[in-house]
Amino acid sequence: ARVPFIAGNWKMNPTSVEEAISLAKAIADGKGSSKAQVAICTPHPFLAACKPHLDKGGIDLGAQACYFEQKGAYTGATSTSMIRSVGAKHVIVGHSERRTVFHQTDEMVNQIIHKVLADNMLPILCVGETKEEYESGLNTQICAIQLAKGLKGVSKEDAKKVTIAYEPVWAIGTGLVCDASVAQDVHKFIRGWLANMYDQETADTIRIQYGGSVTPDSVDELMSKPDIDGCLVGGASLDPAKFTRIMNFK
Ligand code: 13P
Repeated sequence: ARVPFIAGNWKMNPTSVEEAISLAKAIADGKGSSKAQVAICTPHPFLAACKPHLDKGGIDLGAQACYFEQKGAYTGATSTSMIRSVGAKHVIVGHSERRTVFHQTDEMVNQIIHKVLADNMLPILCVGETKEEYESGLNTQICAIQLAKGLKGVSKEDAKKVTIAYEPVWAIGTGLVCDASVAQDVHKFIRGWLANMYDQETADTIRIQYGGSVTPDSVDELMSKPDIDGCLVGGASLDPAKFTRIMNFK
């Protein structure tokens, strides 16, 4: 059985290292007897400072992005070795905000996936359709295209280390959580796609998270669905009370 995986994505928050540490402490205190693996993806400057506090709660550290080159003249970029050396184990790859705000293409997403895996880190690959695509009934087709391009050339063994995050763009930061049964249908489609691309055993190993306006009110129903193995939580991961409830879903 797949171990549930709840990850928090702080995005470009909070505003100082002091605030980041107090948030990390509060989240670590709230982990309690959660049956999930939990990770917090902080901004790069806060990774090292948050690490010991998250460790105390048994929470993994993750980064929100990285570049695919090892080192060199890439001003402003961060490599996998750098984030790994400060204790990060996971990296979010291809978040819709990276794709739209920072013009990351599917090809770059694929290069980053290969680099993350080659450096023995665990990618969380984000896929999902826009509002227009959703309204045109293209949700699964868009996911299939992003998966095919994002996982191009990734071996079966490496694919098992990837977590897929289904994040419908129209649900991110909007308060419009995707209906749990619709999300389940898309997750089931993704698992079927993975079985077709690799094999059933690989598809059954890979965890698929849902992301987009997850709150304490929606988490239990989402997590009750057979193909929803976890959540990637934005806004609610900045509120320790909300995130505590999410980690301890029923
Ligand atoms: P929200 O939970 O704020 O909608 O963000 C979701 C997300 O983008 C997580 O990566």
